[in-house]
Amino acid sequence: MKKYTDFNYNDITQQYELCDELLRINRDKEAALGRRLRVCVETFGCQQNEADSERILGWAIRCGYEKCSSIEEADLIVYNTCAVREHAELRALSKTGQLKHLKEKNPELLIGLWGCMVAQEHRKNTIKFSYPYVDFVAGTNMLHRFPEILFDVVTNKRRRYYVDTEDYSIVEGSAVERDSNFRAWVSVMYGCNNFCTYCVVPYVRGRERSRSPKAILDEVRELAEKGYKEITLLGQNVNSYGKSLPEDERISFAELLEKICEIPGDFLVRFMTSHPKDASDELIEVMARNPKIARHFHLPMQSGSSEVLKAMNRHYDRERYFEVARKIKAAMPDITLTTDIIVGFPGETDEQFEDTISAIKEVEFDSIYAFIFSPRNGTPAAEMDDPITKEEKSARFSRLLEIESEVNANLGKRLVGREMRILVDSHPEEDGTSTGRNSGNKIIRFNTDKDYYGEYINVRVTSSEGASVYAEII
Ligand code: SAH
Ligand code: SF4
Repeated sequence: MKKYTDFNYNDITQQYELCDELLRINRDKEAALGRRLRVCVETFGCQQNEADSERILGWAIRCGYEKCSSIEEADLIVYNTCAVREHAELRALSKTGQLKHLKEKNPELLIGLWGCMVAQEHRKNTIKFSYPYVDFVAGTNMLHRFPEILFDVVTNKRRRYYVDTEDYSIVEGSAVERDSNFRAWVSVMYGCNNFCTYCVVPYVRGRERSRSPKAILDEVRELAEKGYKEITLLGQNVNSYGKSLPEDERISFAELLEKICEIPGDFLVRFMTSHPKDASDELIEVMARNPKIARHFHLPMQSGSSEVLKAMNRHYDRERYFEVARKIKAAMPDITLTTDIIVGFPGETDEQFEDTISAIKEVEFDSIYAFIFSPRNGTPAAEMDDPITKEEKSARFSRLLEIESEVNANLGKRLVGREMRILVDSHPEEDGTSTGRNSGNKIIRFNTDKDYYGEYINVRVTSSEGASVYAEII
């Protein structure tokens, strides 16, 4: 990079200097075009990707682009991709394919693919050889290097591949453009060390590393001061937060939560995701005594069969899961307990699937997210014998979906007659209703002609129908 011979990509100040350079370059381009340059960022996958996209957008704005929501209008398009299941990858590839004609119309258009999918060598090569109109790809650990990557692409006019599976340093201070002014994501840790045999995350997001408590508390304090009402802490396995920190900084996730609750402000704290093997008594106690922590626990069970859990490398069995779920419910009777289930793990027998069904009945979840096993390149499960036919897996999946809707309906019924506070997240719609979410993250619909968007209101649940819950304002 021309005059940046002493460039240190992990120095955030230098990244901001490149923003200033890009800003100048882009202002000249805008003067020549007679209009603003625009950026469109689209997200695939999980909340962590949503949070990352807010950083990508923040950087792009800092480099002179204006946010837009249509790819047709954009001069810079970034797809932030997911790799957790094949379906997400195929969707991103198909949408990338559709960008070809936009590039033909506007040769100045820059296209970038970001995140988990392209952090895999074979997918990086797919892009390199089959999608020649993509200008750059970058892995999840490149977030703080966005200005450098864009500067490189813009000034050197060459395709770039920023995929590095070595340096997963945490660099604080990336720009951010948050999607909401009342709900915010705050990452507390990145990566994962668990290597569940089906999962690609450790390969595309690297080893587990925690942000310093100070950086997290400063960010939450700033959000609370700005009036944010809901803060969701993100990590693949939040219960192992802190383990990678130097000893003098090290605190547990439960301690971090307590410190966050001490920050003044009327806000609710959520967190995702807890691993059952690490869900501690300390965490459950801290939740129970802090009304600022949302009454929602997402505890992915994946399977109700101890044998399958072992093959998945989950480090807990059916009984241990029941024990944690029981403790959570005993400490917080009003908790909403939700879970993820994988159907059709290689070699899962009918009996083992029945174990999952019986476990779901035993635990009485409030909501279930079910997925059909998707073999992921490079993971151990992708190499396991899998005699189960697609048809069989689909039949099991359909049964789970039926159970899922029953389970959702049950939660709705249980809420009828109860009063609760909800955070409104929609403007009144044409039918005169609006929606909000309660502390358990359940969507509640109510009649209103007044706009309460972004505010807390109190409602009483009047009825439920299927997964939908209706309430009136009190
Ligand atoms: N860190 C979180 C999960 C991240 S992935 C945890 O451990 O719970 C989110 C969900 O996707 C997982 O809980 C799992 O149910 C599902 N999933 C992950 N890999 C999958 C695969 N290969 N096929 C199908 N579902 C998968
Ligand atoms: Fe994937 Fe398991 Fe890590 Fe969750 S805990 S991200 S499922 S490897």
